Amino acid sequence: MNGPRLEIHLDRIRDNAKRLFEDLNQLGISITAVTKSVIGSTRIAQSFIDAGIRSLGDSQIDNIISMKQAKLSAKMLLIRSPLLSQIESVVRYADASVNTELTIIRALSQSALKSGLCHDIILMVELGDLREGVLAVDLLPFIRQVIQLPGVKIIGIGANLACRNGVIPNEKNMQELSYLANLIEETFLIKLEIVSGGNSANLNWAKQLRQHSRINHLRLGESILLGCETLYRQPIHSLNTNAFTLITEVIESNTKPSLPRGECAQNAFGEVIVPFDQGNVYQSILGIGRQDIDFEGLVCSTEISVMAASSDHLIIYSKAPIPIGTEVAFQINYNTLLRTMISPFVSKKFL
Ligand SMILES: *Cc1c(COP(=O)(O)O)cnc(C)c1O
Repeated sequence: MNGPRLEIHLDRIRDNAKRLFEDLNQLGISITAVTKSVIGSTRIAQSFIDAGIRSLGDSQIDNIISMKQAKLSAKMLLIRSPLLSQIESVVRYADASVNTELTIIRALSQSALKSGLCHDIILMVELGDLREGVLAVDLLPFIRQVIQLPGVKIIGIGANLACRNGVIPNEKNMQELSYLANLIEETFLIKLEIVSGGNSANLNWAKQLRQHSRINHLRLGESILLGCETLYRQPIHSLNTNAFTLITEVIESNTKPSLPRGECAQNAFGEVIVPFDQGNVYQSILGIGRQDIDFEGLVCSTEISVMAASSDHLIIYSKAPIPIGTEVAFQINYNTLLRTMISPFVSKKFL
């Protein structure tokens, strides 16, 4: 295949998924593997399933529809509140969705009734990170209204931390979630199948657990795909951090001064660059840019430094000149994974 490509090592993803699945299973925690960063790739989703995972989560209903149509043997969880304009697809294609708004749950209820279905919901609770979630003080009155609605069933509660503000999941906020789960069950005499503690940022908390707790579910994306935890972006021991490799080629190679010539204002992206004089340097340009990658999310060999990117050029310095056409390989972070997966200019090669 020609042009920049993302090499995706499915066996490494599967091994990561299996490792996390088995470790968490010992703590009574099941996994929903999150596919949003790989736009619901059925090949990657199948690797999660090969690892034993039976639940897939995505924030885009379109990704869920394509995974559903691929007849993957897993339940589909919509991990972002449904859009009012997409309620019918959500009821039809998602086995469950996370929710925080009565208006939306009422719409789910009506749509489910119309099509003779029951839609399962997980209520998200606000635990401090101030992204989605019903405030704890509002939770009981909220549920009192939801359980009167036909066509929808509350199967669990959940929380999402470390996302907007980086609030760390810990013993205290996980106990708060457990307490709320118990309170809901006692108040309404219902059983909550799922108490979903969070995302990849919960792995440090989970590692310290010595026994089963009320938290029996996590939704994991980045940790499975990139092999790192997400509070400090440290590699997780025994996971592969090299499941994705971005490869692109040199289109210009030259020795150039490191200081620009002429009076400087903003660059193409509204930034004012403070130049740094390194004398003459081996400068190469690669045929990829900000449209396809977050250039700050590229990790490469120590022979190379990533210096800058425009929408379609990536500029690197190297210790030795690099011939035109040479392929340069990078490991990528989550932001770059998101971009390359949706870039039509980067082909995806599954290995
Ligand atoms: C994206 C997302 C996840 C997965 O997060 P990772 O950090 O990739 O594990 C989990 N839950 C929700 C609600 C999300 O939006």
